[in-house]
Formats: sequence, C-alpha cells, structure tokens
Amino acid sequence: MFDKFHDECGVFGVLNHENAANIAYLGLYALQHRGQESAGIASVSSDRRRSETNIGDAIGSNGTGEQIIAPGSLQIHSEKEMGYVAEIFTEERLRRLPGDIAIGHVRYSTAGGSMLCNAQPLVASTSKGPIALAHNGNLVNGADIRRRLEADGAIFNTMSDTEVIVHLIARSKAADLEHALVDALSQVKGAYSIVLLAPGRIYAARDSYGFRPLVLGRLGESVVVSSETCAFDLIEAVTIREVRAGEVVVIECAEPSPRIRVVHEFTGPREARCIFEHVYFARPDSVIFGNNVAEVRKRFGAQLAREHPVAADVVVPVPDSGVFAALGYAHESGIPFEFALVRNHYVGRTFIEPKQSIRSFGVKVKLNPVREIVEGKCIVLIDDSIVRGTTSKKIVRMLKDFGAKEVHMRISSPPTTGPCYYGIDTPQRRDLIASAQSIESIRTFIEADSLGYLSEEGMLAAVRNGDDPRGLYCTACFTGKYPVLHEEAEAAALV
Ligand code: AMP
Repeated sequence: MFDKFHDECGVFGVLNHENAANIAYLGLYALQHRGQESAGIASVSSDRRRSETNIGDAIGSNGTGEQIIAPGSLQIHSEKEMGYVAEIFTEERLRRLPGDIAIGHVRYSTAGGSMLCNAQPLVASTSKGPIALAHNGNLVNGADIRRRLEADGAIFNTMSDTEVIVHLIARSKAADLEHALVDALSQVKGAYSIVLLAPGRIYAARDSYGFRPLVLGRLGESVVVSSETCAFDLIEAVTIREVRAGEVVVIECAEPSPRIRVVHEFTGPREARCIFEHVYFARPDSVIFGNNVAEVRKRFGAQLAREHPVAADVVVPVPDSGVFAALGYAHESGIPFEFALVRNHYVGRTFIEPKQSIRSFGVKVKLNPVREIVEGKCIVLIDDSIVRGTTSKKIVRMLKDFGAKEVHMRISSPPTTGPCYYGIDTPQRRDLIASAQSIESIRTFIEADSLGYLSEEGMLAAVRNGDDPRGLYCTACFTGKYPVLHEEAEAAALV
C-alpha cells in the first residue's frame, strides 16, 4: 500500500567540485546510519565554460583548449542500488557520474517499500528541465495528492511519497523550475528536507516545521549540503548554517565561488524539530538543530540520574544507542561507567540460526556481557528507548544469566507511545509496548528490578538553547501531540 510511507533517510549535495560524485559518495558514507537499504547519487555538469576536461560528454572546443559543454548535453547521470554505500559505489560506478554537481541519498524503509524502484534520487525530465530529487521525511498528504494525480492520469513509477513532489513540479504552471518548486512545496504537508539537482544549481529546502535537519557547508570553493554535519567532518568542510525551517535556498554556480540565495520562506504555525534525532537517530558527532548530539545525550543521562537515582555498582550502556546517556548518568551519579556489553560490529542484517534453539539468539549475536564485570553486581542499564520491549527483555535476562544481582533499567527518553508520521520508522501504535501498558507492567515484562524513564520536561531541558524548547520540538512519539495531523494520527487520537 502506497499510503504506508516509512522512510528514514539521509541527503547530501555538493556544487562546484571537480569530483562531485566522489564527495557525495563520502557524504553518504558518513550518513549511512540514516538508511541502509539503498543508496544513490545523481550528477550533472554546470553549463559554464570549463578549463578542465573531466566531463565525458563535451561536444566541442573553441580552440583554446577549453571544452564547451553545449546546454543540450546537460544530462543528469544517476546510479542507485540496494545495499550499503561502500558496496554500491565502486570506482567504476563513480566514473559513470561525471560533473561538478551531485546529490545523494541513503534510504531505509520497512519491508513493503523495499525495492530498487523506490531508491533515490528520483531523476525526471520535466518541462522545467532535467531534475533529480532526494528527500528525507514523510509527507502526511502524499497519499491524498497521489490519488488525485492518478485519477487525473498521472503514472507513478515508485511507491515513495517523494515522487509526488516531482509530479507537482512537472505539472506546475509556473514559468521556471524555481517557482515550480515553491509551487509544489506549497501543496505538500508534513516533513521534508530535500535537495534538488538541476544543471548549474542545487535547491535545498526544509518544511516550515523543520522536522528533519539540513545544513549548509563550505569546502574550499564548493558548497555542500547535508542532513548532518558528521558528513562535513569527513570531507573537511565547514558548516555555514542550517537551512532554516520553511526556507528554500538555491546554491548556484557563480564567479568566483558559488552563491547561496534564499528563494522563498514558508511560514508555519510553529517549529517542530524532531527530538528523536537527538534521542536515537542522528550520529553523536553531529550538530543537530544547534546542539551537539553527544552532549545532548549526556545531558539526557545526567537528568535521568537526577530523576531516577538508584544505588548501584556500575552504569552499563546498551551499545551503541545508550553510550552517551550512560556516560552522563555515571558522571552525575558518581557510579562507575563500565562497558559490560560488548558489541560484535560485523553482524550483517541476517544470520543463520542453528536448529536447536539458543536463548535470545538474535541479541546474543550482537551483544555479549563481560562476565567478570557483571557477576554479583547491581547494574544500572541505560538505553535510549524501549519500542516493543523485546530487546530490553533479552538484555536484562542475559545480564542475569551472567550473574548480575540486580538490573535497573533507565531510559533516556519518555515512554514511546505513538508512531512517527514524519520520517522515523516506528512500528504501529499497537506494537509500542508503552502505548497500552503502564511503566510497572513494562518493568514486569522486561524482568528488570526497576524501570525509570526520562521526563518530557527533563528531555526538553537538555536541548535548551536560550530559547524555550517546548514550542520548538516535535515530541509526538512521546506525547501524542502531533504538529501536523495525519489521517492515521487523527484516527488514533479518537480511539
Ligand atoms: P525494542 O526491542 O523493540 O524495545 O527495541 C529497542 C531498541 O531499538 C533500543 O535499543 C533502541 O535504541 C532501538 N530503536 C529505537 N527506535 C528505533 C528505530 N526507529 N529504528 C531502529 N531501532 C530503534
């Protein structure tokens, strides 16, 4: 069903770089945590005279050794595939992506949408010229618009809501791409952080709620744009600023260096930055919405220690998601931090289970306790969230099997009670253990000696930046307060 959009994604773009596709590849490599199902890069040449001959499709020479690229040859190249960035992009594949402008995308989706046709960037030839589009976030009215367009004869090639934006651009009566993009974005509702490639320029836009991050940077004479700043660190780019909520900017080729121009600013009722980016999704070395993720997670942990103290021997994180919160908890409580769960970093997505059953096999192949640290100890176990509760249950049991005296579970966010309609993959409400069960019954289910969650106020205090975070963040998965209503959310709210 196409109205089940569940995408977690990362986007990246670079303009004015002689190895644009290689830079995009490195950017995506750093954003791999945002989506492991498919990845793609689209590239194009700017239409300026160039002194280098790195572009394969040059069609003439003016006698000075310069290659002139005829506007007609400004073809968008694209390569996308299922799998990890490093596996997909071989040197040969990157050579097939010429040009000084490139955008890229990593995608994760639930099983239903797991197909190559849904991989991005989406490339299209439109009356406003060739374009490639990469999108992070979910549109809450994507399915409605799609039904309307299909009834009107539109043909869709993917099951992704991103294609709706491509159609709206193509159908816009606006005179040029810039206005067509603004026209298209004015019709969609929900979450989008997008990069759009066109010959000579990249557009970057964030919805007026600013659900998903998007940040601009500079790399020498090139401009880059990324979901997260960790991609800038890898390529040694420096952050310029965030694309603001509601802002549409164009990065265009200019002399002596590219120019960033604000094309349009959408205004909305409020900002609604995704707090879950800080809780779980973003990489700890990134700066998201003005805060470093690792520092925020440490503050979550410190606050958790104040709200739910416990007399214990060691603070143990569930790696990797609980590491920074556990550091904060340990620092605040004075209880020693111990890496008592060792993670196998080479576990693929599937593994063959032996015939005779091994208790908690799925968790055991990923995590194993250090008996010498665990035995006889009273443990505070820290993770960022409990979704279904099955992982926590297995880890608690495993620690007890290895001799832990007591296991006190502490969660560095409030109970996850509702699904996300804006781009984080969460199961349906009925599968979220906290949607129907009390904290005490969750504690019983996971077999912990005690269970404590960070409060909403405590969580928001950790992202305070001089402003009041209550009006600036989306906390819907914890509070049920959905900033933009989706038909599913509305139905759920009525239950
Ligand atoms: P569960 O066993 O369903 O309770 O899963 C809890 C674990 O899933 C925690 O370790 C979280 O870090 C992790 N987690 C939370 N949200 C997500 C998500 N959207 N996608 C993947 N893993 C998640």
